[in-house]
Amino acid sequence: MRPFAYVSAPDVDTAVRAIAEQPGAKLLGGGTNLVDLMRQDVERPTTLVDISTVPLTGVDELPGRNGHHGLRIGALVRNSHLAAHPLVRTRYPVLAQALLSGASGQLRNMATVGGNLLQRTRCLYFVDATAACNKREPGSGCDAIGGFHRGNAVLGTSEHCVAAHPSDMAVALAALDAVVEVQSVRGTRRIPLVELHRLPGDTPHRETELEPDELITAVEVPGSTVAATSRYRKVRDRASFAFALVSVAAALDVSDGAVAAVRIALGGVATKPWRAYEAERLLTGAPATEASFREAAEAELAAATGLPGNDFKIELARRTIVATLRELRVSGGAA
Ligand SMILES: Cc1cc2nc3c(=O)[nH]c(=O)nc-3n(C[C@H](O)[C@H](O)[C@H](O)COP(=O)(O)OP(=O)(O)OC[C@H]3O[C@@H](n4cnc5c(N)ncnc54)[C@H](O)[C@@H]3O)c2cc1C
Ligand code: SF4
Repeated sequence: MRPFAYVSAPDVDTAVRAIAEQPGAKLLGGGTNLVDLMRQDVERPTTLVDISTVPLTGVDELPGRNGHHGLRIGALVRNSHLAAHPLVRTRYPVLAQALLSGASGQLRNMATVGGNLLQRTRCLYFVDATAACNKREPGSGCDAIGGFHRGNAVLGTSEHCVAAHPSDMAVALAALDAVVEVQSVRGTRRIPLVELHRLPGDTPHRETELEPDELITAVEVPGSTVAATSRYRKVRDRASFAFALVSVAAALDVSDGAVAAVRIALGGVATKPWRAYEAERLLTGAPATEASFREAAEAELAAATGLPGNDFKIELARRTIVATLRELRVSGGAA
């Protein structure tokens, strides 16, 4: 690990001033991703601004219409705490399930909401400082495309990068229309979660819309009529401690046999948390049948392009969308 300076920030103002004043500084949440990458010489911060004790740890109810209240979740809330929160389990089961499907109990006790959103890709060549990787070193090439890319993306890719976004929680939040609040010395702004992460294009090293000196302070999830009937289904190589090959976050409301409302987002298959707008458009108002589910899944995956080692994900994603919607139609949501 390279030498770095350390600043302990007890509050948001100290933290945003510290990252604004120290070029090359990085925020330290739970440290479960950042510290690993520093050990691997992939991340090289000049200064670590430790925000782990900043009191952004509330999970608070937001006013909502017709009794559908939302939630404001502090950026330093630990993943395990959020997954166990009664309001999350009852109103947003998809979020509780996504959190519990990630990492391990010990890691979830450390990992924070802000850090989870900004965790870096698990692409094997990104974490190998000796490999060619446009994301880690712009212009150096991409060893994954001609190499081992079983875990990489089939949606939103470019010729410069095919890395999959690794977060489970972010996929659930994408389906739930969450909004991210960020703060810097210039003030506060809000970014819809689906716009926080960028597609790689020809600048895969620019992963989000955040400026280097911006701190995530909270995530807000609006009240919803459909979120209580929601599920997260994760397909992976082993039952725990594995990233998604494919995941589906979905919420479904069926009335008189037709889809009254639906939300779908995909993980494991895309370069960012992927809201399945095309599938939702086709499904809304359609009969809630296996045939409609399949047609919508096919339309959503129509633009997918796989590589020899990961094109199996395209059919797997279609089937996982259908299976998740079927499960919701038959059994409803569950926390
Ligand atoms: C073995 C292993 C298995 C895992 N499996 C899964 C899995 O299956 N699914 C899954 O989703 N995740 C998985 N993870 C990843 C884990 O969820 C992340 O490491 C964790 O969520 C990161 O949170 P953190 O608070 O520790 O982030 P940190 O490591 O502290 O930070 C990560 C990044 O976010 C930045 N950051 C942190 N907080 C803020 C903030 N408030 N504002 C702005 N920037 C910030 C940091 O500067 C850094 O760049 C796994 C991790 C490990 C080690
Ligand atoms: S897929 Fe992206 S992260 Fe992986 S090696 Fe290629 S450029 Fe790097």
